[in-house]
Amino acid sequence: MIDFQPDDEQLAILETVDRFMARRLPPEEQRRRDEGHAPPYDLLPEMGALGLLGLPFPAAFGGLEADWRTVALVQERMGLRGRMAASIFNRVIGFGGMSLMTYGSPAQREAFLPGLIAGELLFALALTEADAGSDAAGVKLKAARTASGWRLNGRKTWISDAQGASHLVTIARTDPEASRHAGISALLVPTDAPGLSMTPIPKLGNNCMPSFEVFYDNVDVGEDALMGAEGQGFAAMSQTLKYGRGGLAASCVGAAQRAVDLALAHAKERVQFGRPIGAFQAVQHRLADMQMRVDQARLACWHLAWLIATGRDSTREASQAKVIASEALQYATHHGMQILASAGYAAESEMGRLWRDARLFSFGEGANEIQRSLIARSMGL
Ligand SMILES: Cc1cc2nc3c(=O)[nH]c(=O)nc-3n(C[C@H](O)[C@H](O)[C@H](O)COP(=O)(O)OP(=O)(O)OC[C@H]3O[C@@H](n4cnc5c(N)ncnc54)[C@H](O)[C@@H]3O)c2cc1C
Repeated sequence: MIDFQPDDEQLAILETVDRFMARRLPPEEQRRRDEGHAPPYDLLPEMGALGLLGLPFPAAFGGLEADWRTVALVQERMGLRGRMAASIFNRVIGFGGMSLMTYGSPAQREAFLPGLIAGELLFALALTEADAGSDAAGVKLKAARTASGWRLNGRKTWISDAQGASHLVTIARTDPEASRHAGISALLVPTDAPGLSMTPIPKLGNNCMPSFEVFYDNVDVGEDALMGAEGQGFAAMSQTLKYGRGGLAASCVGAAQRAVDLALAHAKERVQFGRPIGAFQAVQHRLADMQMRVDQARLACWHLAWLIATGRDSTREASQAKVIASEALQYATHHGMQILASAGYAAESEMGRLWRDARLFSFGEGANEIQRSLIARSMGL
């Protein structure tokens, strides 16, 4: 039997999230940060002190050993209260920590997991290149063997949070002779390594998650920078995609619920023709359709979280959750804008920001077309 009621421990954690978000990232603070392009990295140590960044990790590293259902609930709640917090939370847990747990060496876990859990370190993923977007196995950035490790040369693009990160998990070509996937390895590169530089990419939205072009000019790292086995970087990274996609999806559900809540409040308050606009059936049906999409997406995310928590295969469901939730968010914000009309188009409107930022998620973190192809492949096509 499936139980949808969070247990007492989960409810207590969600209350902690609510209090933290109300204190540190209320809507006006989010607006201020968005306008100032100020990422909330300064909140990481407090998120760490509250135990949030250690949720799924072993106690030996400072973690709480919660299962993935709890992580998904927190991702959704942070998406509801302020997606910019969910973004860095997902980067630390779904990407950084889970990469170390899945394919990091014991020494790397020892060295970096406590710092990630405490909110002192941040890993970013350096995968995309100018000619390798959806075709990620086409990466060309070269890592050549040296006497003591690796020397990296090349360029990455659209690397989010690169400047705020302590390390870049860099997906590099270590064997130019091997077939596409087999010649790729993952290397942990400190952002203060000599020869590494970056320039910001001006962009349309998600202002609190700055993205960078990153240049590697004879960047030397030691042998111990290799994550997983040489030539296995692509396969290793693929094993962690479910955490990243699941995290993005859950935070999209929270943000989509926020869009519904804002639109509902507006529909009750805004009076035209002598009645609240929510009295018009056209507005009611729009809201009903928005809420249905959000509830469907929530179920997809909870199903994925249950599969992960119980150790079941979830590759297909991670793609499904990512597609369903990103499209639910776009649907909810698109129709939310219609309900708010001019009030949503004002520069300070939260709905406007949600709508603008939502545009990224149907192609970021693996385009939805690619997810659909993966789902079709899992169906034997
Ligand atoms: C704000 C932002 C933040 C990002 N952050 C990061 C990051 O932190 N780290 C990182 O490594 N990357 C990051 N990226 C890159 C992101 O992952 C890529 O944008 C994404 O994978 C798509 O690649 P592309 O933009 O090159 O599009 P393309 O691959 O050029 O795709 C263009 C269009 O063609 C379609 N298409 C391509 N191939 C196929 C196919 N086989 N079948 C059907 N349709 C196809 C796509 O679905 C898409 O609609 C970020 C991007 C943005 C915009």
